[in-house]
Amino acid sequence: METNTYLQPKLPYALDALEPVISAETISYHWGKHEKAYIDNLNKMIKNTEWEDTPLEDVIRTASGSLFNNASQAWNHIFYFFSFSPDGGGEPTGDLLEAINREFGGFEEFKKLFEEAGTGLFGSGWVWLSQDKDGRLFITQGANASNPLTQGLTPILTFDVWEHAYYLDYQNRRADQLHKLWDIIDWDVVCSRYSKKK
Ligand code: MN
Repeated sequence: METNTYLQPKLPYALDALEPVISAETISYHWGKHEKAYIDNLNKMIKNTEWEDTPLEDVIRTASGSLFNNASQAWNHIFYFFSFSPDGGGEPTGDLLEAINREFGGFEEFKKLFEEAGTGLFGSGWVWLSQDKDGRLFITQGANASNPLTQGLTPILTFDVWEHAYYLDYQNRRADQLHKLWDIIDWDVVCSRYSKKK
C-alpha cells in the first residue's frame, strides 16, 4: 500500500558552502540532525492516521500539540534552508523590492526591522516576512514552531532564531548571525515566492 512519507530534501549546496556565515558544523547538526528529526517524527505521527493524506500545509493550519510542532518545524526548516545560496546576497528585485519599498520605506529599513523582530523574540522561534492575498507584506515573529500559515498569510522569508541555529558559530550573539544572513539570501528563490495577488 502507498503511504504518504515525507522525504527530507537534499540541500541545494554543500555543507560548507555557506561559510563563514553558517559553518559546515552548524549545517551538519541543524539540517542533518534537527531537521531530520522533525521529519522523522512527523512521519511516525501521521502513519496510519487521518493525517496521512492531508497536505502538510493543511496539517500546519489545523493540527495542534506535538503534531503541529513537528509538521511546522519540518516545513519551516526546509523553507529556511532553501532560502540560502553561496552566491546569495545583494537585494531583492521586481515586485518584491517594490512592495518592500512601499511597506517599509526601503530595503535597509526592512532589514533593520526584520533583524529587530528576530532579536527581540524571547526564547526560541522564528521571524517571518509574509504576504496577504492582496500582496501586502508583514513582519511577524512567533515562538517555537510558529508559522504564519496559521494566520492566513503566505510566508516569503524566515530566519530561525532557535539557539541551535547559531550557537556553534556565534554563541549567544543572535543579532550577529541575523545580520550576516543577508549575505547568503537567494533572492531569486525568495522573490519567486511573492506575488502581488495570491
Ligand atoms: Mn532550527
